[in-house]
Amino acid sequence: MLNKKMKIVIAGGGTAGWIAAAALSNQMGEILDVTLVESQEIGTIGVGEATIPPMRTFHRLLGINEQEFMRATNATFKLGIQFENWKQIGEKYFHSFGITGKQTLITDFIHFWLRGRELGIANEFGDYCLEYKAALKDRFSINDQAKINYAFHLDAGRYASFLRARAEARGVKRVEGKIAEVQQNPESGFIASLKMDSGQEIPGDLFLDCTGMRGLLIEQTLQTGFEEWGHWLPCDSAIAIQTESTTPAVPYTKSIAHHAGWRWKIPLQHRVGNGLVFSGQHLSKDEALNMLLSSVDGKVLTEPNVIKFKTGRRKKSWNKNCIAMGLASGFLEPLESTSIHMIMTAVTRLLQLFPHGEIRQSIVDEYNAQAESEFVRIRDFIILHYKATERDDSPFWRYCKDMEIPVDLKHRMELFKDFGKSNQVEGELFRLDSWTQVMLGQGIVPSSYHPIVELMSEQELQNFLKSVAAEVDKNIGMLSTHQDFINKYCGAM
Ligand code: FAD
Repeated sequence: MLNKKMKIVIAGGGTAGWIAAAALSNQMGEILDVTLVESQEIGTIGVGEATIPPMRTFHRLLGINEQEFMRATNATFKLGIQFENWKQIGEKYFHSFGITGKQTLITDFIHFWLRGRELGIANEFGDYCLEYKAALKDRFSINDQAKINYAFHLDAGRYASFLRARAEARGVKRVEGKIAEVQQNPESGFIASLKMDSGQEIPGDLFLDCTGMRGLLIEQTLQTGFEEWGHWLPCDSAIAIQTESTTPAVPYTKSIAHHAGWRWKIPLQHRVGNGLVFSGQHLSKDEALNMLLSSVDGKVLTEPNVIKFKTGRRKKSWNKNCIAMGLASGFLEPLESTSIHMIMTAVTRLLQLFPHGEIRQSIVDEYNAQAESEFVRIRDFIILHYKATERDDSPFWRYCKDMEIPVDLKHRMELFKDFGKSNQVEGELFRLDSWTQVMLGQGIVPSSYHPIVELMSEQELQNFLKSVAAEVDKNIGMLSTHQDFINKYCGAM
């Protein structure tokens, strides 16, 4: 049993720092003494506004009321991502958060669909998915009949403030100012305290490094090392701007590829977040800014936020008595909106593996193994979007198309092409439906289907496919327009 409160010091008050503070104080506040240090002068990265559905589970864990959260962050609903120009210029596909069709014990829906397509009796793959059709028809509701899987678009700055209020209400102490020095125990190398510009010293037992890409504790102090993945994910820069909304918000993120990367469009209740992600080797900052400015619809509200980044992960997320979370632990570009989710899994992992008294190496190793596996699986899913392209209109896309990829990903792509099987590894974030939608969307079409589907007559197959599509259409009929539902459920204005 712990006989004194363990002192947790969180360095950094961006999305990562405040998520960690809110979760630790909510779950273990009575036995922890939590202090968060942040510097308004340094500020936060100011982006990170698209999320994925597991956020709802995390919010439930923290007892967050969804309507209150959405009003506070001007949030909208997200049913997936529309990808434009990724496979080929002028072509679109959708990665939805839903399940497409109906699975059977032996084989996946795609095999029935492939046979149906061969016979000319199947619609587009997405027609068998509620979330896909709802997104494109601009429909959304939360109701018991038409259960829909969703996430959010949110204002990152407001989200950190929302979490801060909850964390402070549960006793988290906030210290404003710059960390001038990270002091270590001379024998163990463990971090002993943070020394502030003001001279104040903040001692701790466990330190969470949430200082963003600089990794003030994990890298600048502990020199943990960084594994770079830029050769697989060549984008290394982004420019973000906010604009006025010109149309009602749609319930999905847009990702539009260009000749040296892609750009995003994230609709919130009060404005739109826009950004251009690019490879600095293939596009200059000025060209990128011009491209972004000429692509936005509404009046520009902010100065361009130019961000350079390195794709990869810290070799150990947990080193000595320091755990890196958020950008301090590594970064995968925002194509599938995974970073905020990874902060939430990091905090959950810490709660599950919380040290029983002193820090033992076995717990550290377990934490690091789980963190590495999560990073690698998500990385491979993102690489898939670049590798499986038919584009060869620019040096950037030719590089992506020809690059060597990780062995596991190569195997998955081959398995899908040969057998229509989206292999799934236990515990991984992106499930069979996600892999299938992206592989098909990027142009990998299985060369055969499972012979078991031939046991159905053509008429039976047609009836089956029609019944699935009809169920989707019936459910669509029960949904409001996205904007109407927002106004009623969580209108912030
Ligand atoms: P930061 O926001 O950089 O916060 C660092 C904190 O540390 C700040 O409070 C700063 O003041 C403090 N600090 C640093 N040094 C000191 C010091 N010396 N003394 C005191 N305080 C200090 N994620 C998603 O999930 N969805 C998205 O759509 C998405 N889009 C993104 C787009 C881009 C271009 C990028 C680069 C990232 C995106 N992300 C996205 C990732 C997301 O922005 C981050 O995961 C999230 O904002 C967490 O950032 P952070 O808290 O780790 O770092």
